Amino acid sequence: MNSPQTNITPPVEARRRLRVLVVEDYEPDALLLRRHLNRAGYDLEMRRIETREQMREALHDGAWDLVIADYTLPSFGARDALAMLQASGMDLPFIIVSGTISEESAVSAMRAGAHDYVLKGNLERLLPAIERELADADARREKLRTSAELKALESRFSATFNQAAVGMAHISLDGRWILANQRLRDMVGQTAEGLEATGFYDLLLPAAERDEDREIVLEDLLSRKVPSLRVEKRLRHRDGHAVDVQLTISVLQPDPSETESLSLVIEDISARKADARERADLVKRLINSERLASAGRMANTLAHEINNPLEALTNVLYLLQTHQDLPEDLRDLVSMGARELDRVGHITRTTLSFYRGNTSAGHALNKLIGEVLQIFASRAEGSQVQIITDLHPSTSGATFALSLRQVFANLIGNAIEAMSGTGGTLTIRSRETRTCAIVTIADTGPGIAQAHISQIFEPFFTTKGERGTGLGLWVTRGIVEESGGTLSLRTSTDAKHRGTTMRIALPLKS
Ligand code: ADP
Ligand code: MG
Repeated sequence: MNSPQTNITPPVEARRRLRVLVVEDYEPDALLLRRHLNRAGYDLEMRRIETREQMREALHDGAWDLVIADYTLPSFGARDALAMLQASGMDLPFIIVSGTISEESAVSAMRAGAHDYVLKGNLERLLPAIERELADADARREKLRTSAELKALESRFSATFNQAAVGMAHISLDGRWILANQRLRDMVGQTAEGLEATGFYDLLLPAAERDEDREIVLEDLLSRKVPSLRVEKRLRHRDGHAVDVQLTISVLQPDPSETESLSLVIEDISARKADARERADLVKRLINSERLASAGRMANTLAHEINNPLEALTNVLYLLQTHQDLPEDLRDLVSMGARELDRVGHITRTTLSFYRGNTSAGHALNKLIGEVLQIFASRAEGSQVQIITDLHPSTSGATFALSLRQVFANLIGNAIEAMSGTGGTLTIRSRETRTCAIVTIADTGPGIAQAHISQIFEPFFTTKGERGTGLGLWVTRGIVEESGGTLSLRTSTDAKHRGTTMRIALPLKS
């Protein structure tokens, strides 16, 4: 005790602050304790209490490093203080310092949670006990803090991972799922169990390229040729359709001792893809319809150019026919030539008038229909389509714009195309009511699918692929409505009444 070292007070900055709560009813013992701790170099803050009330208050005031308690106080003892400390939830070292304590009591106090006990006659043991317990408490607090921090980190991570707007996953090299987020499951329509049952590579489309895909992933990534792979792929949705995605795959190797795994980020790009496809489609159709228009202009020019020599040729044949010296058998041949030439002339004349587009009114309905039918006659024949006409003569004498010819051509064209594979009957009727003229064009083709009916009047809607422009019905309806009329249809795909009937109603102008 009298050794020089124990008497030297350490410099202030080296002194450790120690806030001690002392449960002790005997003031001199408390003073003794204070001196002991002061000498040990603590910058001491000490409060002595001896009742339950004071203990409560002290705990409420907070900030203590340590509780030292006498074991036997008359009213309030170490066991009570310990219980109160534990109830407060504070994790402080609790050391019993007592004049006398039986081994039994000591053991039972330790069991109850006291950290150590020291006899008053053996206070040298107190300092190491304090140091040890303070260090332990620090360690406990540190552990608690890191585990709480870990937990918070984990929950932040899992929230981010699961609520991410992109699909995310970790997989083993052979494609087993280690972790997959909700977005990814939604993207492929799978539950957690459903996804578990299929490996990552099983989701890739087309199926035939899976092995190759897997090789590319493994070779490029594992040889570290590239840090990560970014590819556009299609994934198989549970209901069978394909989902366009952008895949980013990189190697995860958190620790050299662990086996490598892959990290996936999967972005759904189907909307973007659909847009691009639609645009490409539209451009293709526009080009197509432009081509059609220029083909029309060319036909017009050709017809025009042919017309003049044709006239001349017709005249020549006429002269030949009327030549008196012509032998009878040659005369027959010449008149056959004249008939054929007449047909050519008719074709060029109709082509010309068709595109010349005199749109002013002044044409009888049945005459317009007849002209169009003539143009389609050979096409109908080639498609084994029989044409039936039932054209009632007009009583009103109403006339119509030439543009209606385009209407009939489009509708008759569609009808013949609908029956081209199978043959069938095209029935064209016209009649007049008191207020309007009605034309129906009926075919016995396959009919129009329910799902298409709302679309067929839209520009560019066609089921004919490259052959169609999808402009026919759109233009047709435009012309009909422009002349104040209506266009309606009846169609059936069922075997008994299969076919389509287009009905045009046009107001009679007085
Ligand atoms: P296109 O003939 O170039 O396809 P249309 O606008 O004339 O364009 O017709 C649009 C679509 O409507 C056609 O592709 C076809 O699917 C459908 N359609 C039109 N008329 C008929 C018909 N008589 N029978 C069956 N389908 C038809
Ligand atoms: Mg058409």
